[in-house]
Amino acid sequence: MRGFNSFQEKQQVKPLRTCVLCKKKRPKEELIRFIAGTGEVDLLKKKRGRGYYICPECVFKAGKKLRKVDPEKLKDQLKKQIISHIQIGWRGRIIHIGYDQAEKEIKRGKKGFLIIATDVAERTKRNILSLLNGDYYQIFTKRELGSFIGKENVGIIFVPETKFGLKLKSLIKQFLDLEGGSVNCQR
Ligand SMILES: [Zn+2]
Repeated sequence: MRGFNSFQEKQQVKPLRTCVLCKKKRPKEELIRFIAGTGEVDLLKKKRGRGYYICPECVFKAGKKLRKVDPEKLKDQLKKQIISHIQIGWRGRIIHIGYDQAEKEIKRGKKGFLIIATDVAERTKRNILSLLNGDYYQIFTKRELGSFIGKENVGIIFVPETKFGLKLKSLIKQFLDLEGGSVNCQR
């Protein structure tokens, strides 16, 4: 019975939802929420009202068939949310910009994930990943990441896994899943 309880506890940490299209269960954070009735997208999963969930792969595949869901538009909305979270994180000193800062946080034992620019040097990527015990996501170019926060180039961002960080992670995952379109649905 003890084993069952600890399983339940784990489930509580990561609430699961079912994609209404493929019927697969996934952590809520990986799914896109829609408001029942209007079909409006609820990117931050905070809006009132009954909702339903669709996984990014199904949105990508069935996008054209779904009413009011345009994967390109959704991608665009997610991108804007990601950018504004990076800006808020930067202004609020929640996230850490650049290799040295990221390295410092990782070595201090902070739990978090990395945003790595798509055009960062392979060696830089290898070096920082050899220190990290966590996830990383490659999204945006150095110039793009830099432009979000008024710098010329940003190759690496360390995001602590606070509530804010997890929200940003969920947005990035949804965006990248939509981008790929063929990422596996089940974990
Ligand atoms: Zn699905």
